[in-house]
Formats: sequence, C-alpha cells, structure tokens
Amino acid sequence: MSETTRAVVLGAGMAGMLAATTLARHVDAVTVLDRDRLPGDADPRRGVPQARHTHVLWSGGARVIESLLPGTTDRLLDAGAHRIGLPEDLVSLTAYGWQRRFPETQFMIAASRSLLDWTVRDRAGADPRITVTGDTDIIGLRGDASAVTGVTYKPRREGTVSVLDADVVVDATGRGSPVKRWLAALGLPPVQEDVIDSGMAYATRIFRAPPGARKKFPLVSVYADHRAGVPGRNGILLPIEDGRWMVTLSGTRGGEPPTTEEGFTAYLRTLRHPLIADLVERAEPLTGVQASRSTANRRLYYDRLVEWPDGLVVLGDAVAAFNPVYGHGMSAAALSAAALGATLAERGLRPGTARAVQRAVGAVVDTPWSLGTSQDICYPDVLARTDDPRLTRHAAQRRAQADLIGTAALADAAVCAAAMRVNTLSGVADDAFQAPEVRAALAGAAALDLPDGPTLSDDEYAAARTAVPAGH
Ligand SMILES: Cc1cc2nc3c(=O)[nH]c(=O)nc-3n(C[C@H](O)[C@H](O)[C@H](O)COP(=O)(O)OP(=O)(O)OC[C@H]3O[C@@H](n4cnc5c(N)ncnc54)[C@H](O)[C@@H]3O)c2cc1C
Repeated sequence: MSETTRAVVLGAGMAGMLAATTLARHVDAVTVLDRDRLPGDADPRRGVPQARHTHVLWSGGARVIESLLPGTTDRLLDAGAHRIGLPEDLVSLTAYGWQRRFPETQFMIAASRSLLDWTVRDRAGADPRITVTGDTDIIGLRGDASAVTGVTYKPRREGTVSVLDADVVVDATGRGSPVKRWLAALGLPPVQEDVIDSGMAYATRIFRAPPGARKKFPLVSVYADHRAGVPGRNGILLPIEDGRWMVTLSGTRGGEPPTTEEGFTAYLRTLRHPLIADLVERAEPLTGVQASRSTANRRLYYDRLVEWPDGLVVLGDAVAAFNPVYGHGMSAAALSAAALGATLAERGLRPGTARAVQRAVGAVVDTPWSLGTSQDICYPDVLARTDDPRLTRHAAQRRAQADLIGTAALADAAVCAAAMRVNTLSGVADDAFQAPEVRAALAGAAALDLPDGPTLSDDEYAAARTAVPAGH
C-alpha cells in the first residue's frame, strides 16, 4: 500500500456522499464511484428512481448533514425547499387522531429528492480530497475474508477493468447492494437478513400549488390506522421547491393505490379523511402518476458476523432499508456516516476499526428499524422473516406502550416533543420518555382532549382556495 491513504466509496447517493465527506477528514484521498452518469444539476437520474416520490428529511438527519457540510440547509432553503416546523406546520391525522399544532420542537426539510441529492453531492464534491466519478461499473472487491484492499471497476464507455487499491472501501450502493454476494465469494458465512414486507406500493403526482400556498403551507398527511385489521391507505401532501405540492399515496398489500390519474383522484377520497382530496381539487397537475414498490423493510446484520474483513464498511440502504412511509432512510444514512466518522476519530485506521464501525452502524439503524417494523407487522398479509423479540414475543406489550404514547402525543405538548424527538431520529426513546412531565402525561392519557377535525387554519384553507368545513 502506498503512503497516501485512500478510501473508495461505492455509490454517490446520500449515504455515499456523506460517508465521503466524513472519510475526507481521515484519509488523504476519497474516490466515489457510481454507475450513473451524474447530472450537474438537481435533475432526476436512473440510479435513484425513488426520487420521483416524497422524501422528507427529518431534523435528526438534517442536523447531521449540516454539521458535516455547513451551509447545506441554507442552500436548500435558498433553492426553494420548505422548512416545516414540527408539529407547528403539520396537519396530520395519525392512526390515533388529529395532531395538535404545538410550537415547533423539531423540523423537517421538504424538497424534491433530486434537489436534496444534488445539493449534498455538489457541496461534498467541492472538497478537493474527494473525486466523484460516474458512468462506472463496480466489478468486485479485492482482498480476502480477513481484509478488503480495494475494488475492481470498469468505466462504462471504455471497457478496461482497472484496480483501485484502498485502505477503506465503503459500500453505499443502496437496496440492490451486491456486497452480500461478494462477501460470500470471499468465504464469509451467510449474513442474517430480516424482512418485514407490508407490500406497500407508492403512487406520486406533482401539482402546482395555488398561488397563496406556494411560499408556505403545512405538510398535510392522512395515515392509516395500523390496528384496524384492514390494508393501510395513506396520503401525504408535501410542499416542495418551485411552489409545487408533491402528493404521495401509499397502500399496503390489498390496498395499493392505482397508477392512473383517475384512480389516483378516486383513491384520495378513500383515505380516512378527504382533506388532501379537497386541497388538490383546485391545484393544477404537473405530472402523471409515478409508481414504486421498493418499500420492504430489509435489514442485513453485518454487525453480528463474528469475522469481518478489515477495510470494509457497509452503509445506508445497503445495510438497512426501511418502509419509506416513515421517512427514515436518509436520516439513518446521515447518522451512520457520522458514526463512521466518530469511530475513525476514536480508533484511527487500524485492524478492527471496520468491524467497530459496522457495529456502530448496526446500533444507529436499530431505532428506525424498530419504529417502522413494529407498525408494519400489524398489517394483513405482511411477509415477516425475523426473530427480533420486539416483533415477536414482546410485540403486544410494546404495541400497548406505542398506542399510549401515540394518543397522548396528539394533545400533550411534552409527550409530543418526546415522540417527535424519537421519530425525527434526534434522540433515543429511553431518554425521551423518562422526563417527569412526560411520564405524568402518559399516566393520565385517557383524559386528553383531542382535536376533532383537521387543524388547518382558516387562512390556510383560504390560501389553498379550499372551503372551510362547517363547524371549523
Ligand atoms: C419510494 C421511496 C420513498 C422514500 N422516501 C423517503 C423519505 O421520505 N425520507 C427518507 O429519509 N428516505 C426515504 N426513502 C429512502 C431513501 O431513498 C434511502 O434511504 C436513501 O436514498 C439511502 O441512500 P443510499 O445512499 O443508501 O442509497 P441510494 O440513494 O439508493 O443510492 C445508491 C447509489 O448507488 C449507485 N449504485 C447502485 N448500484 C451500483 C453499482 N453496482 N455500482 C455503482 N453504483 C451503484 C446508484 O446509482 C445510487 O447513486 C425513500 C425510498 C423510496 C424507495
């Protein structure tokens, strides 16, 4: 190995670019390889087909991105992204009822995924230690079961296979990651893979928001009640850049949204409340309906393998992909990149560091994994392959606690703040729910006074050119 230390990152998506940013503080050079031709703008690209659908960036992830790439939030906002204060700018029918709009304790960034990706890729790529190369196929890993020492790759247009030696190889190639296969070829034992698949399908359409609602409008969501014993049907209206509303429908197995324009409109009226249907009735459609089915929760327990090759790290959807309806993927990727940086800072590049990183990443993805799967497992005809006790023998007890918190969070500011902290991946559950005022509110949850309808203000109805409902 040369004296210059090098990292290679496979995949220039959210996980890959944030990992590259972190690595650039610990090695001399970082090369990011992606098979896509990478656009020099916020344009959609083939390798991230999910970009056609709603992507919320929770504050837990946004803060990490800001700390890794200072100024990113302002650049997103300057480009027209919306900052949604939580729960202040949220009009949401959850499984338990309508959420009160307490003053903000967390936030989310609402923008198209292409804008989020481009902003992060552009800022990360400005670091002179980072080189981003598109149009490149990764052929495989170099090394053996004890250490990965680089990759073989092939530029798509030329055709010569080349070798890139590296002290660290990070796989961030997303849901389709070939690493499981590559590790088997290196002689490692099979990795445990858990799957919780509610069969959720996505359908998304973009609208031009009415003029009064283009600069600022709440995020509006209508969620299924996962306890109802019927397929779940959800809708979300997300204000994004350029005065647009991205409207995404999602339904679990047996309740999938149609992909025709007429079907999309009709499905909106089958949600638990017609609010989103009423809002988009006056909005101009800008696109047809786009569909996706890449929604299964899938977790690979690389952190549990007894032997792990030095020099290899797996991050992002390649380790744990979540049902996107909970919006955790990008934030988990950001937190995993931060865990990579913290472990490198603590241990440096030495034998055992990659394994320590993999364990840290396993701990990071555990919270979003348990939040989403514990709801998804309730839906009819879910496909589940897991021995996670939280989803098996302790499931009923955990569900009762989640129901209590979910109900109290609607009407009690302290419980809401604690729940928001956990759901935005800004803190851990054990700490969040221990505060005395949270415990007291949970003890009296049955007496809470819940909003009885949509929490949109009269001004917001007017901005959306939608009639205020009687009795509002
Ligand atoms: C429909 C849908 C909606 C979603 N909504 C949200 C949301 O609201 N909030 C949220 O936080 N997350 C959401 N997610 C999840 C989010 O998209 C992912 O968690 C996030 O993109 C993880 O990023 P990644 O970098 O691991 O993978 P990706 O973003 O998928 O990036 C992988 C990269 O690797 C490249 N690549 C793949 N294979 C190879 C190869 N063999 N060789 C070279 N390059 C390769 C691809 O071109 C791509 O650039 C959603 C996902 C879906 C499917």
